[in-house]
Amino acid sequence: MGGRETVIEGIGASPGIAIGRAYLIDRSRVAVPQRQMARGDISREVARFRRAVDRSKAQLQRVRRQTARGGAKELVHILDTNLMLLEDAFLGDETIRLIRQEGMNAEWALATVLQRFERALATARDSYLRERKADVRYIGERVLRNLVGHAQASIAEIRDQVIIVAHDLAPSDTALMHRGNVLGFVTDIGSQTSHTAIMARALEIPAVVGLERVTREVRSGDLLIVDGTEGKLLIRPRKPTVAEYLEKKERYEILTRELLKYIPLPAETKDGFRVRLAANVELPAEISSVIEHGAEGIGLYRTEYLYMNRRTLPTEEEHFEVYRQIVEGVAPHPATIRTMDIGGDKFLSPVGVAKEINPALGLRAIRFCLREVGIFKAQLRGLLRASVHGNLRIMFPMISGVSELRQARAILEEVKGELLREGHPFDKHTRVGIMIEIPSAAVIADILAREVDFFSIGTNDLIQYALAIDRVNEHVHYLYEPLHPAILRIIRQVVEAGRRAGIEVAMCGEMAGDPLYLPVLLGLGFDELSMNAVSVPVVKGIIRSMTYREARTLAEEILGLPTAAEIEAAVRERVSRLLTPGLQHLIGWKKR
Ligand code: PEP
Ligand code: MG
Repeated sequence: MGGRETVIEGIGASPGIAIGRAYLIDRSRVAVPQRQMARGDISREVARFRRAVDRSKAQLQRVRRQTARGGAKELVHILDTNLMLLEDAFLGDETIRLIRQEGMNAEWALATVLQRFERALATARDSYLRERKADVRYIGERVLRNLVGHAQASIAEIRDQVIIVAHDLAPSDTALMHRGNVLGFVTDIGSQTSHTAIMARALEIPAVVGLERVTREVRSGDLLIVDGTEGKLLIRPRKPTVAEYLEKKERYEILTRELLKYIPLPAETKDGFRVRLAANVELPAEISSVIEHGAEGIGLYRTEYLYMNRRTLPTEEEHFEVYRQIVEGVAPHPATIRTMDIGGDKFLSPVGVAKEINPALGLRAIRFCLREVGIFKAQLRGLLRASVHGNLRIMFPMISGVSELRQARAILEEVKGELLREGHPFDKHTRVGIMIEIPSAAVIADILAREVDFFSIGTNDLIQYALAIDRVNEHVHYLYEPLHPAILRIIRQVVEAGRRAGIEVAMCGEMAGDPLYLPVLLGLGFDELSMNAVSVPVVKGIIRSMTYREARTLAEEILGLPTAAEIEAAVRERVSRLLTPGLQHLIGWKKR
């Protein structure tokens, strides 16, 4: 390996360039050494165990202090639970007993106790106790690492500005990132539509995913260049390469700043056709970004993040508070809030979704809500109560057919009745729509359109289900083709079904914010396109560079072409003539 410059290619998940030192997050489990202790060494071994527990406590207390300063209450609560477990008599006393009586070394004794503890928790009747299994494993790993001398990295502990290198990152990891501590990140696995990638774009952190072997190639402290626009990682770059990339970074930043001129302008073609550009949001803190980037409301608020990094379910009051902030924050523009979409690649702790062999096709999203009506109702009550504070639209995810929709609507009606009886005000005309992301829903879009106020096409899942490709699997990423003729036909059919029924049709999948697909979507006649707020200015720039007539002709022509590659070539050929070189550079038009 040595110090040679190496370039590896992956999938550009979030554009921009980051230059900095690597910080390896090692999520692998610690190998446990097993030694039989000599009698005379036993008290030293017990003392070594106690020191490792004390060190672990000190580390957790430090993270807790930092987290408390950042205001993440739920995370503080988790850390308190972890600290309590470290003080648990069973864990400490039983480990010391095994060292003393069985002559086991500290790592072996602790690993044995942890296994028993985890087994006991796994069979607990109480779901709260079952959930503690992950905590026990987490703190056990921490003490083990302190015993064997490997520190455990956690994003919350990072103080310098670094580039994170990990095998994979959970959405709960990305939720802890901000531009103050993370310059960029790279992972072995993942794809453009994994939630980690979506979060990276929202936070404007350059990222490359699907690099396959990056955790083996990079050591902590190595100098790295992340080129999120081109999907490249440069390891231990030479001086001239760093100079070249510093220049590229500056150019990227200048061009990005230039785009700011589009922010106050309408998203309108040269011949006067207007589209509503809305934002996809996951955290209330992003609302300022929605306004700052010139989006006209929220096209998709993903409520899953409300359920993350915590041990208890959000209460109705918490739901209400968050939704009120969102609805008020973007009023008079619409705020489309999606009911929880857990499962798939979005596992959440307090909800206790069972591990399924095929989670993408499992008990997720609306299916879960229709089963756990109490959890669903708390969210719907919070939503309806927030409706009087602005322009709320409620959206159900993963609807596969009419009966599911009717069941969800019936529960919503029940909740309205309850609120009415209790004297809580709500907007009786709150619009209700659905995500079209399952092929069965797309096929019967004309029937569904009679029973809802709007559609929003979720291409992330629609493509996954229609083309049978796991959206987070980098090995089949090459088949993930938004311009596949089948996908374009499905989209056209849904838009037309919506238009015939006189309802609004939006798109909120990642495809909507990708400049490459934009001219086609414009030509298909969407009412709203919803994307990461940071993409809004560049998308406006493109819309303002062309006419609706051109877009319509392009959409009609490409719908007759047989492959995604031919369609892409046609789009590129047509559009590259319309865009300025600056816009073309920003969207990585030449290289994909
Ligand atoms: C989608 O599936 O396109 C979508 C927008 O929802 P999510 O990415 O949250 O599954
Ligand atoms: Mg989806």
